Amino acid sequence: MDARGAVARISLEAIRHNLKVAKQHAPDASAIAVVKANAYGHGDLAVAAALEQDADMFAVARFEEAQRLRAGGIQLPILLLEGFFNIDQLHYAARHNFHLCVHSHEQLAALERTPLAAPVTVWVKIDSGMHRVGFLPEEADAVFARLSRLSQVVQPVNAMTHFARADEPDNRGATDEQIARFKAVTEGRVKHTALCNSAGVLAFPDAHADFIRPGVMLYGITPFGEQQGTDVGLRPAMNFTTTLIAVREHKAGEPVGYAGSWVSPRDTRIGVIAVGYGDGYPRMAPAGTPVLVNGRRVTLAGRVSMDMATVDLGPDATDKVGDEVILWGDGLAAEEVARHVGTIAYELVTRMTARPRLEYTD
Ligand SMILES: *Cc1c(COP(=O)(O)O)cnc(C)c1O
Repeated sequence: MDARGAVARISLEAIRHNLKVAKQHAPDASAIAVVKANAYGHGDLAVAAALEQDADMFAVARFEEAQRLRAGGIQLPILLLEGFFNIDQLHYAARHNFHLCVHSHEQLAALERTPLAAPVTVWVKIDSGMHRVGFLPEEADAVFARLSRLSQVVQPVNAMTHFARADEPDNRGATDEQIARFKAVTEGRVKHTALCNSAGVLAFPDAHADFIRPGVMLYGITPFGEQQGTDVGLRPAMNFTTTLIAVREHKAGEPVGYAGSWVSPRDTRIGVIAVGYGDGYPRMAPAGTPVLVNGRRVTLAGRVSMDMATVDLGPDATDKVGDEVILWGDGLAAEEVARHVGTIAYELVTRMTARPRLEYTD
């Protein structure tokens, strides 16, 4: 008997491989490795340190994320994907080589009225169709003109946009339109351009431009709903594991877990595994969601609770307490688990809590 709780084993080698795959798809582009949200749950400092040789920049969503990377010794420029949220962050960004996305009139006006210790590099966000943040194409000229007058901004500025539907291989038209709108207002007017998330890297070679912004693919996960990372040459970077903490004889007709929502159709053995929503394993995972026990596919039986989940091991099971369980990773793609849960693998890896230990292999 030697059980333990949930552990996420992270392969830095897989993450380096996946960045190489992204760069092979876009050989003429520089790479901005997206490590927001704790590197999609994989540990931002460890991941950034592993990629610092091969990436050209990093990107995060929040100022505090960039600050953590700098404090941890990361030297490459760091792009703040939504720019600065207040003036203190603007000053800090200029001193620490954070590149700023500028997406709003509020940010533009704040930049105009704030003298900085050093000029800051700006990426103007163009809203080419996502309609979340960014300047509309018809505003672009005026924005570029205003920025070109500022000594606190590195000249000339860069421009970026973000795709809403690049992960839909059967619906290329919407992305083609975004590419066309972006190019029409940026060509010849800016220094560098960047359009592509992972889906763009994989599916829209004519949009690779100067910089790509791969995120989820670095972690071995494909952005395309019906595929998994290994189908496109990626290696899953996270092996989310736990162990059996109990194996119990269970009678046909008896329920398991909260609300008795699952009732066994047969005499069987129920395995109790040390993972729950307190670790980030989704409570919404229904009975039938696959789990690997000793490399064998079994399924969840009953509700996921905070610290435990239950699986139907089958009547002839010989699994015992302490045996290894894989929740997603080698042999069970996070993408497949996500489909059972009704979400995307991005969310599974990103919402891991602080409880599971992250262990790294090079
Ligand atoms: C998160 C993000 C990315 C990375 O997207 P993936 O789909 O994970 O590759 C790229 N660009 C922006 C602006 C983002 O917010």
